[in-house]
Amino acid sequence: MSALRAFVTDLLESEGAAVELVEPDCLDVLAPELLRRAFGWQEDLTRLGFSAASAHSAVRVGLEGDWLARFGALIGERGRWAARQLPTPNAAIPNQPEHLIERALDLPNAVWRLVDSRQTWTCCLLLAFRTTASSDEKRDGLIWLGFNLGTGAVLNGPLLERLGRILAEQSVWHPSDLEADTTARATALSAEQIAARIPPLLNHLVRDDLEPFLRSMHRRLERDRGRVHTYHNDLRQTALAKLAKLETATTDKAAADRKREALRVAAIEREYAAKSDDLEHKYALKICVEWAQGLILHAPVQRYDIMIKRRKGERLIALDWHASVRMLEAPLDEAGTGLEQSRYVCDENLHVTSTAGRVCPSCGKARCRACHPKTCARCAKV
Ligand SMILES: [Zn+2]
Ligand SMILES: [Zn+2]
Repeated sequence: MSALRAFVTDLLESEGAAVELVEPDCLDVLAPELLRRAFGWQEDLTRLGFSAASAHSAVRVGLEGDWLARFGALIGERGRWAARQLPTPNAAIPNQPEHLIERALDLPNAVWRLVDSRQTWTCCLLLAFRTTASSDEKRDGLIWLGFNLGTGAVLNGPLLERLGRILAEQSVWHPSDLEADTTARATALSAEQIAARIPPLLNHLVRDDLEPFLRSMHRRLERDRGRVHTYHNDLRQTALAKLAKLETATTDKAAADRKREALRVAAIEREYAAKSDDLEHKYALKICVEWAQGLILHAPVQRYDIMIKRRKGERLIALDWHASVRMLEAPLDEAGTGLEQSRYVCDENLHVTSTAGRVCPSCGKARCRACHPKTCARCAKV
């Protein structure tokens, strides 16, 4: 609970309160009027307790109940956006960049050549999305995705994780300075391009993130379905067997028994349908994804300008080696999620795109989804 206590201390102090740690898990809060009103505290001085062992007089604060919602209401929209700068590390830059690039840049239908390399700053846009998946159980998650606005690359996987770790480790918040801000201003992605890329990328990351949750949910659903089916099937088979025995009997009692068993079979079938409906409701899946936070991050990079050659066309692209995490980013992908390894270069405009969706499912011909995002140029189908 010490993380929550530290968070509450920071939050209340930033709202003008004086906060003092009085017992291992209690805070004395001298709160200004606005804050007292927001939390419904009567006295100037309030004691907050963070464990079950806290004094009876303390207001108990925990992750349960509505405390998180109340803190959220106090923060409001503040903190949704932030800008930060990573310090310049003293580490040496790669001495054989070609080897590094060779591993990251796989161009099956084009060749490349390194034409320039320089130290500079880039501007990264990191976005956090909160996910809530609920069916018979509930799962909350936080998904980060990022773009290098200087090169157009998607930041994901280990590179993004390491960036996040470095940011979390640095207790001193470095605001962006003028040099980094000016140097990193050149952007390879427009706001429209970013907006268009987020949904497919997010979709992919959410699916990946929820995969274990969905797998275990399906397992539970199949188990429950099996139980319901076995139970009702046994009852139905027993009733049907009784009916079969009564088939040839002609007495009045046999006729009444037949009617009763037939009604029983109908009732079992109705109950089975109702139980199956119940299961469908119980396991109905609802996934909610909402944007939580955005961070503009100025990061020191070694920028490689790479000339890409496809037939008679040439085009310059940039690829950044992120000095703080000592990793080369994946090359840009102008029509996909950027999560695959290979990139194809198109003949018309030398777009760089990944393999997903490159072959038209209708005519089987290769197409560039950056040139023709909606329909195939050859067969005009979606
Ligand atoms: Zn086609
Ligand atoms: Zn193209």
